[in-house]
Amino acid sequence: MPPSDLGLKPRLGYTESRLVRAAERRKDADALKAMIADPASGVYVIANEMIVLKSGSPNEVLFSFPEAQALAPLDEAVFLGLDGRDPRFGVGIASDAAAALKERSGFLVTDLRTIAVQGLVAAEHLPPIAEAKAVLHWHSRRRFCSNCGAATQSVEAGWRRDCPQCKAQHFPRTDPVVIMLAIDGDECLLGRSPRFVPGMWSCLAGFIEPGEAVEDAVRRETLEEAGVTCGRVRYLASQPWPFPSSLMIGCYAEATSRDIVVDTEELEGARWFSKDELVRMLGRRHEQGLTTPPPVAIAHHIIRSFVEGEIGFG
Ligand SMILES: [Zn+2]
Repeated sequence: MPPSDLGLKPRLGYTESRLVRAAERRKDADALKAMIADPASGVYVIANEMIVLKSGSPNEVLFSFPEAQALAPLDEAVFLGLDGRDPRFGVGIASDAAAALKERSGFLVTDLRTIAVQGLVAAEHLPPIAEAKAVLHWHSRRRFCSNCGAATQSVEAGWRRDCPQCKAQHFPRTDPVVIMLAIDGDECLLGRSPRFVPGMWSCLAGFIEPGEAVEDAVRRETLEEAGVTCGRVRYLASQPWPFPSSLMIGCYAEATSRDIVVDTEELEGARWFSKDELVRMLGRRHEQGLTTPPPVAIAHHIIRSFVEGEIGFG
């Protein structure tokens, strides 16, 4: 295997947050009031899938509280944590308010995938934006109690919703997803979803079901989507994926069969790739234009770890 000459490893998107979540402040009404009034506080402004930026070079993503309040009525606010001593919040605004800002000069309103892939803000902002986006999305879908139907209220700085009627407490949810690379010697299994950009191939992935271990989900999804059986399963790394609230659990698995039967409901193709071919895909110099997902995604890191010999079953 030649050296991969892929350069330094890129940072995995949405991970290694600089924020200390300082959860003890969530219940402290006086501390919250003081932080909201603190001129050092910074606010991420989010409307569902869209993030509001101040356009410039570089773009700015943090607003002060008075600036955010001047943009649009704020639906919800979530205390995200502290960057050093500076409080960070996420606030939600309505989609039509964000659409109006998009037409105004001085603002750039776009989705988080675009921001992450194109590097429209400094990388340090991606984890807190992911945190804010996931919690604000949860708020937008939990306005009413799932137990009794009454309107719920945000409490604890946006980290819980309480039902005044039946007293149920509702907490933000995270949906675990396995994303895995089945390996057979120097080859691994990738699939192509019809939703992917042309030419891109990636790891197989799927939601973990209730009552299922991570390892069992890896084996089940690989068998369901590609007809390949797997034995040993190892964990590599994880990544929050706020579309809307997943946690990607990156694994690799020892393939114990070779023949592929594609589930055409999920995938338009699946096949084995050699390390040589993967190097050209990672480096964007494949003769047929085939690519892997971009460095912001965990699939890129799993595939690269395989190519560089860091994972495998000897
Ligand atoms: Zn209730």
